[in-house]
Amino acid sequence: MAEYVAPLKDMQFVLKHVVGLDQVNTLPGWEEVTEDLVDAILEEAGKLASGVLSPLNASGDREGARLQGDKVTMPAGFRAAYEQYVQAGWGNIMAPTEFGGQGLPHLVATPCEEMWGAANLAFKLCPMLTQGAIEALARVGSEDLQKRFLPRMVTGEWTGTMNLTEPQAGSDLSLVRTKATPQADGTYRLKGQKIFITYGEHDLTENIVHLVLARIEGAPEGVKGISLFVVPKFIPKADGTPGERNDVKCVSIEHKLGIHASPTAVMAYGEKQGAIGYIVGEPNRGLEYMFIMMNAARLSVGLEGVAISERAYQRALDWSRERLQGRPVGVQGAAKTAPIVQHPDVKRMLLTMKSLTEAMRALAYWTSAVLDRARHHPDEAERQRLQAVVDLLIPVVKGWSTETGIEVASLGIQVHGGMGFIEETGAAQHLRDARITTIYEGTTGIQANDLVGRKVGREQGRTAFALIEQMQGVVKDSDVPAESLAAALASLRDATQWIVDTYPANPAAVAAGSVYYLKLAGITFGGWMMLRSAQVATKQLAAGEGDASFLRGKLATARFYAEHILPQAMSLTAAMRGADSVLAAEEALL
Ligand SMILES: Cc1cc2nc3c(=O)[nH]c(=O)nc-3n(C[C@H](O)[C@H](O)[C@H](O)COP(=O)(O)OP(=O)(O)OC[C@H]3O[C@@H](n4cnc5c(N)ncnc54)[C@H](O)[C@@H]3O)c2cc1C
Repeated sequence: MAEYVAPLKDMQFVLKHVVGLDQVNTLPGWEEVTEDLVDAILEEAGKLASGVLSPLNASGDREGARLQGDKVTMPAGFRAAYEQYVQAGWGNIMAPTEFGGQGLPHLVATPCEEMWGAANLAFKLCPMLTQGAIEALARVGSEDLQKRFLPRMVTGEWTGTMNLTEPQAGSDLSLVRTKATPQADGTYRLKGQKIFITYGEHDLTENIVHLVLARIEGAPEGVKGISLFVVPKFIPKADGTPGERNDVKCVSIEHKLGIHASPTAVMAYGEKQGAIGYIVGEPNRGLEYMFIMMNAARLSVGLEGVAISERAYQRALDWSRERLQGRPVGVQGAAKTAPIVQHPDVKRMLLTMKSLTEAMRALAYWTSAVLDRARHHPDEAERQRLQAVVDLLIPVVKGWSTETGIEVASLGIQVHGGMGFIEETGAAQHLRDARITTIYEGTTGIQANDLVGRKVGREQGRTAFALIEQMQGVVKDSDVPAESLAAALASLRDATQWIVDTYPANPAAVAAGSVYYLKLAGITFGGWMMLRSAQVATKQLAAGEGDASFLRGKLATARFYAEHILPQAMSLTAAMRGADSVLAAEEALL
């Protein structure tokens, strides 16, 4: 079975020519992040992804993580792969330099993360959560907490987790019940149960650092009474090495549809005297802090949609070139039995997969580039403007790319025919693995609520309208055909205006159409990325620059996207306005 091959050409094209690596590596502190350096990083990441992580994807899925007592054993090969990952420094490429990280831009780490996710999604979740925990501690943890935990998390010697969910508190975190009792020495004792904790227990490292949401005794009800705690599996000794075992343990792991190698743990805090926890930042601001972690994680999960799509596409393309069935319609001189890639409908499916993957990739990378600029731009007003753009884009990348990832993985099975439904080809695993991505880190419904409420409705569409205007400028001056994008932008503009007008008096109507709006935004922003790609490809081809066959491929997918994907924008707008039929239907009729 063919292993994953990192799509380096497309990644490099997007970074250099579509999303503006040059706007990031000219920011203070990143001048040395040259194109050559980025190429070298991506090549090395590609080798690890193809040579080490990808070969463990199917075996990890078959074997799964296993629980014995309160210990989890990872599938064969995962420990060695993790060691190799950490030794090569991949765990710290984005971490701040003051804690031993390499401090590289998010934009450079993003394609690497895509590669880890495409090669082995279950493996990738562990470093992703550690990275989120590092980011939260680096930004809001006290100096003492940073000193005790960050250096070993940055090297990857210890991993991090995110503990929000409880049996009664999923999307609604105001219902969190885990209790934290203050102690005379300034620490807290935590008691409660967390469920669905990714890598809550494993045997990859000697310690695990849990970031846990809990309620301090006497705190206000709701989200304003939630605090954030660091609860290590082993309490670090004065010399920094793991010491006494804390009162937290894994009591079971879930049997799931996909990502079998990723242990999803039920964690018991404080079954005895209470788990020792250290508060992060100020009491009752836990959810706000956790959002630092969740925003980074939401972008990463959006990338998982891109990653799985790429992997599913590669597998489907390989299959379509080898599987011989039927004579293609309308192909002069075609063999009586030809590779299925020659059938128009199979070509349509492959182009759908490829063009959507490219559009999602460019949109996710662009979001990373804007994120870097929002954090490092020298001008405060520009930083604020860019942050508003990132805030708007993150739910779109998370929601649209993961929903689309499922569609693409499903098409991958369709291309395989019956063999796609049989586990042996590997196509089915991609769909099973993709299925969780629209659920964890906030379901699509939650992303869509966030988008239409906080990001559009409450600010009267200011950021959305500004983006639409920026895109309309690109369309107006385009030297390649852009009618479909112009029409999609007009739809997005209308839909945005409808939200702004409707939200104050009838937020339920907006909520009913919110997922349609999220998809509309994703498809349209993706179309913008595809137009920019087509403009660059056209210019380079005319100048005789670059790899002509790759560039012609970019034009083919851009044209397909314009003719087959962008027209969906109009129907999404119409569906979004159909809120009445949702609201009018009585619950008893469901
Ligand atoms: C494999 C796996 C790994 C996970 N990893 C972690 C982890 O590491 N840490 C962690 O803390 N959690 C983790 N989770 C939990 C995950 O984040 C939650 O499952 C998710 O947030 C949804 O919560 P829920 O399952 O309770 O669903 P519910 O909240 O019950 O949602 C059910 C349905 O109702 C909809 N819904 C709920 N509220 C609203 C609303 N206000 N508006 C519109 N629709 C709504 C949802 O969109 C969904 O369709 C993981 C879950 C799984 C399955």
